[in-house]
Amino acid sequence: RVLLEVKDLKAVVKESGQEILRGVNLTIHEGEVHAIMGKNGSGKSTFSKVLVGHQDYDVTGGSVLFKDQNLLEMEPEERSHVGLFMSFQTPVEIPGVSNFDFLLMAFNARRKNHGLPPVEPLEVLEADLAILDEIDSGLDVDALQDVAKAEDGMIVKTGDVSLAEQLEREGYRGISMS
Ligand code: ADP
Ligand code: MG
Ligand code: MG
Repeated sequence: RVLLEVKDLKAVVKESGQEILRGVNLTIHEGEVHAIMGKNGSGKSTFSKVLVGHQDYDVTGGSVLFKDQNLLEMEPEERSHVGLFMSFQTPVEIPGVSNFDFLLMAFNARRKNHGLPPVEPLEVLEADLAILDEIDSGLDVDALQDVAKAEDGMIVKTGDVSLAEQLEREGYRGISMS
């Protein structure tokens, strides 16, 4: 069953009108794990934030269906109620705190607000779709060599785990639109 269907999604920074997402297409079925990889500045965090309805961005085109419902019409709060969960990238890395611990803390804080007891790690999968944005501080594969901002803002290549391994080995240089 299709869980998330993103079609030609375009989004701009509200304040400046600068286009960041330039036509993102992604379909996620129930039970799948997707890793979106790309150069620093290519729009991965923006994509995550646009999906959860972050106030800094305006969607200017395309569609997003989550469990057959129009996600773009929902308030951020409603999006979490229908089962979309995101852990935000923190600007500062906290030594010893993994993204997963962070997710669990955030999730349990929300449960506490609803008068519910804390859960163990695997139960976090109560969310139908969990978006785990990396806690990055310039640690991308090419970060040291590549300071230039690259805003591709779209998914240019899709593959299985061997593609992820190739990117880890070779970086993003061979992967671009041009
Ligand atoms: P990634 O997560 O792939 O490293 P981001 O989504 O953080 O990339 O950023 C993509 C581009 O959009 C960058 O050039 C970034 O500066 C710009 N950008 C993202 N959010 C904002 C914002 N709120 N205001 C201005 N520019 C932004
Ligand atoms: Mg980044
Ligand atoms: Mg990011």
